[in-house]
Amino acid sequence: MKLILLGPPGAGKGTQAKMLTERFSIPQISTGDILRAAVKDKTPMGLKAKQYMDAGGLVPDEVVVGIVRDRLQEADCINGFILDGFPRTVAQADALQTSLEEMDKALDRVISLDVDAEALVERLTGRRTCKDCGRGYHVQFDPPRVDALCDACGGSLFQRDDDQEETIRKRLQVYADQTSPLISYYRDADVLIELDGMQPIPQVQEKMLSLLQAG
Ligand code: ADP
Ligand code: ADP
Ligand code: ZN
Repeated sequence: MKLILLGPPGAGKGTQAKMLTERFSIPQISTGDILRAAVKDKTPMGLKAKQYMDAGGLVPDEVVVGIVRDRLQEADCINGFILDGFPRTVAQADALQTSLEEMDKALDRVISLDVDAEALVERLTGRRTCKDCGRGYHVQFDPPRVDALCDACGGSLFQRDDDQEETIRKRLQVYADQTSPLISYYRDADVLIELDGMQPIPQVQEKMLSLLQAG
């Protein structure tokens, strides 16, 4: 299964991707997670990306396109993958199309999660992220079993620098301007599934699985 999860920051892409990786035994490819790891390791790419990420803007297309092209060649992608947070521009979507064609692969589905702006702000301000494995939590909607510690790995939870209200507003605007055109892009390609992302996490999960199984 070759999937893209599309949707604004806070829509629940990462949360749902984690569930899908277990269900279908295919990797989650999150450009945000890969970039944050590079920032943490202070690699040349990370140092360059940080300024864009801190400002709530997009990292240049050529950087993320290169990351994804390399990642898709890895052995674990042989049976499929879930792209989470990529593509975010039409240029990235076109580059992905070219890479997939070169590998003789095609997307099965693009799932677009739709969530109201106010709910997105509430989700992102309350989001907490594991510093070790990257799993996301929410102080109210998806709290860890033990306060401030990751259920999966025991790592400590932190609040991302870009999950502050001012940067969140900027990111939502960037989504509206640069990423939302991908909804019609993939509708025209006949692979789009639109899903109401306003329901609680388990309901969104159930609906997503039933839509994917319906083919
Ligand atoms: P994205 O990857 O799209 O930016 P996340 O999966 O990180 O979004 O979710 C953003 C925040 O909202 C997290 O704190 C997560 O726990 C919470 N969340 C995800 N899905 C839902 C949902 N359906 N209802 C309420 N909160 C949610
Ligand atoms: P969210 O889903 O909450 O917006 P991500 O973890 O997907 O967060 O992305 C965090 C930041 O990383 C983005 O604001 C952007 O600066 C950068 N980033 C991630 N993916 C991409 C991408 N495909 N293109 C450009 N920038 C990206
Ligand atoms: Zn963890």
